[in-house]
Amino acid sequence: MDSMNSMDSMDSMEHAIAIKNVTCRYGSTTALQDVSLDIPKNAIYSFIGPSGCGKTTLLRSINRLNDMIPSFRIEGSILVEGKDVYAHSTSEDTAKLRRRIGMIFQQPNPLPSSILKNLLLPVKEHYKGKEKDYRSLALEKLKLSFLYEEIAGQLNQNALSLSGGQQQRLCIARALMLEPPIMLFDEPCSALDPISTFKIEEMLINLKKERSIIIVTHNMEQALRIADYTAFFYQGKIIEAGETGQIFRRPKTDLLKRYITGRF
Ligand code: ADP
Ligand code: MG
Repeated sequence: MDSMNSMDSMDSMEHAIAIKNVTCRYGSTTALQDVSLDIPKNAIYSFIGPSGCGKTTLLRSINRLNDMIPSFRIEGSILVEGKDVYAHSTSEDTAKLRRRIGMIFQQPNPLPSSILKNLLLPVKEHYKGKEKDYRSLALEKLKLSFLYEEIAGQLNQNALSLSGGQQQRLCIARALMLEPPIMLFDEPCSALDPISTFKIEEMLINLKKERSIIIVTHNMEQALRIADYTAFFYQGKIIEAGETGQIFRRPKTDLLKRYITGRF
């Protein structure tokens, strides 16, 4: 039994995230049913599927954001970097987990203060460092998110004066301040213009060299352009998952065929 357990955790160390037989409920609504999926390191994994099929629920279960919803229940296990996140449940454990996982939502959510203050906020909270020491880190993250050249020299400008696409890139730069090895994106480009979308896709391709990424997208071309792997969700289940090329060019199920050709 002991040796099986250690084999198990060795196996899961190879993945950024291992999702095993996860069922999630909100009261009597089952949002996910017996879902299992391994998320490899240093790759982009896209989640596709119609609205209401459980993609956000799974994303928010990985960093325990659903804990705040009183009716939420989860069964099964989610291992992040080999550790069962629901087995370690002090608030310190959860804070530590969330430092390892950056999360970006559909609506950019910068604070109504300067660009620089937005970027310094996460490091200030976690490391209680001196602002000055983190300024160069902030500039580096702005360059990574292709925002630096657009706002150069205006770090004290209010973040809310930026365009939606610029705000989203600022939020990604802010998440990067903590150097999270895992990043979760929930429809990050749905509300954005094509140029910002393109810049974010470029950024994600650069980020995956060192990070493991999941992106929920309703844009099939986007999944094809950037994702190494894709999982197709339908009514709380993963119907198909695998290499993106395989998923789009050789779908096995009729459901997926209909979904990717828009006959749904
Ligand atoms: P998706 O992201 O694929 O659109 P969700 O994970 O948001 O799907 O939703 C999956 C199911 O869970 C839906 O039936 C939805 O109505 C339900 N659900 C999501 N969030 C909540 C919540 N906070 N309370 C109750 N039900 C919820
Ligand atoms: Mg969603």
